[in-house]
Amino acid sequence: HAERLDGLGTTIFAEMSAKALATGSVNLGQGFPDRDGPDSLLEDAIAAIRAGVNQYAPARGVPALRQAVVEHQQRFYGLTYDADTQVLITTGATEAVAAALLAFVEPGDEVIALEPYYDSYAAGIAFAGGRRVPVTLRAPSYRLDLDELRAAVTPRTKVLLINSPHNPTGTVLTDEELRGICAVALEHDLVVITDEVYEHLVYDGQHRPIASYDGMADRTVSISSAGKTFAVTGWKIGWVTGSPSVVTAVTTAKQFLTFTSGAPFQPAVANALALGNDYYDALRADLQSRRDLLSDGLADLGFEVHRPAATYFVTTDIRPLGHTDGIEFCRMLPERAGVVAIPHQVFYDNTHYGKPLVRWAFCKQPTVLQEALTRLQKL
Ligand code: PMP
Ligand code: GLN
Repeated sequence: HAERLDGLGTTIFAEMSAKALATGSVNLGQGFPDRDGPDSLLEDAIAAIRAGVNQYAPARGVPALRQAVVEHQQRFYGLTYDADTQVLITTGATEAVAAALLAFVEPGDEVIALEPYYDSYAAGIAFAGGRRVPVTLRAPSYRLDLDELRAAVTPRTKVLLINSPHNPTGTVLTDEELRGICAVALEHDLVVITDEVYEHLVYDGQHRPIASYDGMADRTVSISSAGKTFAVTGWKIGWVTGSPSVVTAVTTAKQFLTFTSGAPFQPAVANALALGNDYYDALRADLQSRRDLLSDGLADLGFEVHRPAATYFVTTDIRPLGHTDGIEFCRMLPERAGVVAIPHQVFYDNTHYGKPLVRWAFCKQPTVLQEALTRLQKL
């Protein structure tokens, strides 16, 4: 195989979900909800299929969804976009990230990414011929050190790839951190690719899109998707917003990856984006109570728990239980306790920082979380 596949192997999510099935384990590994959300969304997609919305969508996406993305950005963040020139619908945020990297990274360019980073970033950077430069969010606070960010910039740096709310740490970048990132981007003329798929899953603090900061509109590729916000991770409907030239560049790459994405899902997601605040509030409140259930339970079991401000995931340090290596721990966990979790290590270049850390997904029914905690007492 080509060199660009070196080190990519099989994603940890495929490996661990297969292991969960094979061992009958409670799967707190891969982040997907065990209830599909909201009924109106599901019914709208079925109706679209029955109504014959089954052929290629327009290249940039169904107009109703592009318009809904515009209205959503205005409603939640006061950002104004034009639905025809500043929105692209993609096959999930994953394709959006890959297309954005292909659009802006020349072979040999450096891409600074917050470490631990979501695993598709490494692949996307490699496919574009770029070089990954990590800036580590370190325990116990998992905050961004702006001096380290500045020090990571070289003449070859082209892109800052950020992710807030952040998977796997749950960090929500603060106003100060975002300002610092903007200053670096402006000073060195960098493109910012920002993955905001957890924008509506914030329990402490507030999400503010980096595109809303002064000077950022023309250099930012903003990415989100329907998977987390509407509990339909298998639909793979995502979107990019940005300046017309940014969106055209990403569209040029995207059109030859997949051309278009999930036609009947698009009008359904358009309606869902317009759901009232009661939907978004209930989603957040529900997940927050699960976060607390799992965080408290893991702490009672003796783990050192980092209660996340956002996302689907709690991070623990396993050393208080006498373990030192998260990969070993997660490999023995299904057989020993009937639970699956994800080792942080796979999201790092500097693996020593992630070695004792394990990620647990709480986007599951409370009874399922309780069952996992009961099983973990066997450890
Ligand atoms: N970015 C992050 C940070 C994620 O955690 C995930 C996984 N859900 C994705 C992107 C992928 O999103 P999608 O399923 O929309 O491709
Ligand atoms: N984003 C989800 C996670 O972090 C799942 C992603 C995947 O399966 N590729 O668990």
